[in-house]
Amino acid sequence: MAGAIGKRMEVVKQKIQSFSDAPVRSAHALIQDQFGRSFNYLRIALNEQCNLRCIYCMPEEGIAFRTEDKLLTTDEIFRIIELTARLGISKIRFTGGEPLLRKDLPKLIRFANNTIGVESIHLTTNGLLLVKHIEQLEDAGLTGINISLDTLKPEKFKVITRRDGLNLVLDGLEKAIQSGMTSIKINVVAMRDFNNDELLDFVDLTRENDITVRFIELMPFDAHQIWKTGKFYGADHIVSDLKRQIKDLESVDGSRTEHHIFRVKGHKGKLAVIPAYSRSLCGECNRIRLTADGKLLNCLYSQEETNIRDAMRSGCSDDEIGKMFRKTMWKKFQDGWDAQNQGNDQRESMTQIGG
Ligand code: SAM
Ligand code: SF4
Repeated sequence: MAGAIGKRMEVVKQKIQSFSDAPVRSAHALIQDQFGRSFNYLRIALNEQCNLRCIYCMPEEGIAFRTEDKLLTTDEIFRIIELTARLGISKIRFTGGEPLLRKDLPKLIRFANNTIGVESIHLTTNGLLLVKHIEQLEDAGLTGINISLDTLKPEKFKVITRRDGLNLVLDGLEKAIQSGMTSIKINVVAMRDFNNDELLDFVDLTRENDITVRFIELMPFDAHQIWKTGKFYGADHIVSDLKRQIKDLESVDGSRTEHHIFRVKGHKGKLAVIPAYSRSLCGECNRIRLTADGKLLNCLYSQEETNIRDAMRSGCSDDEIGKMFRKTMWKKFQDGWDAQNQGNDQRESMTQIGG
């Protein structure tokens, strides 16, 4: 125990020391775009591989996964965390693929936690391996977890993920709720004639638990285009179905991209509806995305990538890479529709973007 406290004090001392060494960060140093948005949130995909095969994300046979040498190394991710924190990034999310399959995840979290300017570190996971790793992740400094879970019924879970494992995910969720982490959310991709009959079961999870259940629109990022099969369930319809089925729904505050946020009176947790396809949230966007192979995207729907990995491997300085971040984000389109209209999306899966 005394050893652990000593180590923590050392980290705090180092943080204070480097604060006094750091140049004063002025407001205009934040990464911004031509429309006045500023970006403090970096989403880093750690891999493309996954232990599930969700039908809207990845075909059973997988995709043409990039080989290990194409993915960012631990040291390259350390470098990106450090240099973007100097540009004003304060929130980091690790995603994928399935980030829990990457062995260096605790190391990456710890590094982010020890980086000046980084205030919160989050993870998006399918939850299958959470029970096994959660203590180590929390100890490393993880502050929030989003668990993706589209159904509470075992048979449907098998249909949507093409694998078994609902109980493992539910155990992971319980552990996450019991942990000391400040933000626990469930991401539910809402689909017509698939899980729209489970809205109230998910809502019920917010009764005793201080979590946010987020209903997310299906997006057109899968090679098999299941979103064209009539399963799309728009945010407006989700909201009106919730309002029709629940009398005591009150509007509350949430994160920047959670446009519709509610709480059922008396419940500890919240509900959110995310218009990920309708894109009514673009004006509030504060996100930068980095793919597992080190390409920078200024929008989920962007057709253009900036190759940060190759820039780092060819010897560019932090200053030069910082300029690449600024330039890429400055060029961000006003909304995701304009971004999508710039070309034909060749991607096969959300894992190539980092969902
Ligand atoms: N494997 C992790 C997981 O499932 O949480 C992290 C990566 S996954 C690509 C991130 C998020 O993207 C998940 O919440 C998943 O449900 C969502 N996603 C994947 N494909 C999608 C699609 N076509 N439309 C909407 N959401 C999608
Ligand atoms: Fe894997 Fe996540 Fe894609 Fe499902 S959504 S296949 S869990 S990467």
